[in-house]
Amino acid sequence: MHQQHKQLWNDACGHLKETLPNDIFNKWIAVIQCKEISGDRIILVVGNDFYQSWLEEHYLPLIKNALAVVSGRTFELELTVDYNLSSEPAVQEPESARDRVRSILNPKRAPEVKTNLNKNYTFDSFVVGPSNQFAHAASMASAQSPSRAYNPLFIYGGVGLGKTHLMQAIGNFILSKKERGKICYTTSEAFLNEYIEALQTNSLAKFRKKFRTVDALLIDDIHFLAKKERLQEEFFHTFNAIFENHKQIVMTSDRPAGELDGLAPRLVSRFEWGLVVELENPDVETRVAILRKKCEQLDLSIDPDIVFYIAERISSNIRRLEGALIRVASYASLTGQKVDHAKLEYLLRDTLDQEKKLAISIESVQKTVADHYDLRVGDLLGPKRPKNIAWPRQVAMYLSRTMTDQSFPVIGSAFSRNHATVVHACKAVEKEKSRDITLRQTLSLLQQRIGQQTQNADKSIL
Ligand code: ADP
Ligand code: MG
Repeated sequence: MHQQHKQLWNDACGHLKETLPNDIFNKWIAVIQCKEISGDRIILVVGNDFYQSWLEEHYLPLIKNALAVVSGRTFELELTVDYNLSSEPAVQEPESARDRVRSILNPKRAPEVKTNLNKNYTFDSFVVGPSNQFAHAASMASAQSPSRAYNPLFIYGGVGLGKTHLMQAIGNFILSKKERGKICYTTSEAFLNEYIEALQTNSLAKFRKKFRTVDALLIDDIHFLAKKERLQEEFFHTFNAIFENHKQIVMTSDRPAGELDGLAPRLVSRFEWGLVVELENPDVETRVAILRKKCEQLDLSIDPDIVFYIAERISSNIRRLEGALIRVASYASLTGQKVDHAKLEYLLRDTLDQEKKLAISIESVQKTVADHYDLRVGDLLGPKRPKNIAWPRQVAMYLSRTMTDQSFPVIGSAFSRNHATVVHACKAVEKEKSRDITLRQTLSLLQQRIGQQTQNADKSIL
């Protein structure tokens, strides 16, 4: 980077150092690296998602301000993540004469192989529980004897349940061995982009060589291939070449190959040749263990009560679970205040809201509304439309729309109607609501009941 730019960033850090408490500066600002300044845009880099989300939420305005103070200009900031960045503070003290002598006497060790793997995604940092032990064991076996244990290994599961983590753990494990082979980790999207570039630049041969001569191909988010025929064709040949060379293939997907719409049958069958494993939603004990591990890694000390509270409430996505932990930890570290339950609810309101929406089903809305109006659920779904049924039906549609994450078409089909009917129902209830206080009370009562029902259902699972 330009010397002048470096200076600008160092000056801004100097300013922040003066304005912030030391430990906060060291923990959150010193870990940032300035990657690029072009025009009025500054690209900053941190070593993991936690720093990114935390800084974005709490410190961007302050950093912007510091840059403005030292430069007299305003900048647009962009925070990016580079997993290979160490989390050591990036702002360095001036090198002392003694350090310089030392570094000349002890030249740095040979550089490690450069990969695009996240070094933190290892088997060590992966918490094993009933929801993932099979996937974990299969991944371990594949890492220990690539191409001999299970080939291909196909890992599937919902968003944020650890697919990328496990896949990269395999890569990191193979690389840590003495006779490490050539590993290629890529996402299906990056594979597509490289393919297109190869087509445009007439370098298909090079592209093919790159992917077909690896010892292990780790290809993430393979569901992305669905409905892309040309890409599937190319991947088909890549797959065959690697497989015939007796090299390892690992894939992840958000659902089983057979359920991917628009995936060629010959690919589906190949994807099922080896072992197919699923990552499920972790149970509450596993969630607590994951949070504890995260606290350890990030050196956070958080009340066990609070850890348990977060683990209990957030169950569908581990990334979200970690996000909640960071939010709470940063609040505590920023304000120095103790976090009580009311504060927790407030800090996590958006996340909790999303979780609740996930948990509430259209069926539970239908049931509660039918009960309230003394009807049967079948009445709500049937073809009749006398007023005493039509109105409750509209209310149920409205609540389905506002209390779940489902789309109009999905709600429509749950009521055996089309999506326009649901849109119309929502508008009608909205309108009525604005002028009818009794309706507002009824709606809030129904919302409460539906929420309670879902909570009770949750508890019976635990
Ligand atoms: P996916 O690829 O399935 O969307 P990721 O692998 O990106 O999910 O996982 C999301 C986050 O959750 C990552 O930070 C990952 O380290 C963490 N994570 C997932 N499962 C575990 C686990 N079993 N133990 C520890 N961390 C986990
Ligand atoms: Mg992923």
